[in-house]
Amino acid sequence: MIRAMNEHILVVEDEPSIAEVVSLYLKRAGFTVETAGDGDEAKSQFDKHEPDFIILDLMLPGVEGLSLMRWFRDRSRIPIIVLTARREEMDRIAGLESGADDYVVKPFSPQELVSRVRAVLRRVNREDSTPSGDRPVTHGTLVIDPGSRTLTIADKAIPLTVKEFDLLHLLALNPRQVYTRDQLLERIWGGADYIDAGTVTVHIRRLREKIETDPSAPMHLLTVWGVGYKFEP
Ligand code: CA
Repeated sequence: MIRAMNEHILVVEDEPSIAEVVSLYLKRAGFTVETAGDGDEAKSQFDKHEPDFIILDLMLPGVEGLSLMRWFRDRSRIPIIVLTARREEMDRIAGLESGADDYVVKPFSPQELVSRVRAVLRRVNREDSTPSGDRPVTHGTLVIDPGSRTLTIADKAIPLTVKEFDLLHLLALNPRQVYTRDQLLERIWGGADYIDAGTVTVHIRRLREKIETDPSAPMHLLTVWGVGYKFEP
């Protein structure tokens, strides 16, 4: 089954001609694209659209690109590809371990950028879907241990089915990232034809009954209306 390329990408670039051509190529490749021309716009677009991916030009008016990247990183671990005009700068970024997933030096071909985006997404998706050997995910008193496949809340073990565990682990691993039902079906159930989106709804409901203080007013497993679900730490 072909994975739907409906990821939302935020392109932060102050040069309109570059922003335009990059958007065009990404849209052609099946992505949904938002653009921002400066730091403030980038932050508001990020809050509004909760993108799955960011392409960030480091040379922006009125903001240090790396500080903007840290702002994103404080909120999310979604992939970021950095655009830079200077190779020396790229070396500096790499040395700083700034949190970028890849770097592209200007001038670049838009097609190459699209290929890089796809490569990063493949890598990230592969890491997400192989929980073996991962470290436990901890949010407050909630601990998800992929090694022993156990969930504990305040040291109390909560029994989960295989799919409930996988679903919670994926969502909790990427807090605040919104997954559509289709993405969850693909990632947790492998997109099997005989499973429908209602399966996700049922599993979310059961998980809420197990982990939420009040399952009818969840604090962690949140529905994003018209889109899907996310984990709120
Ligand atoms: Ca620029």
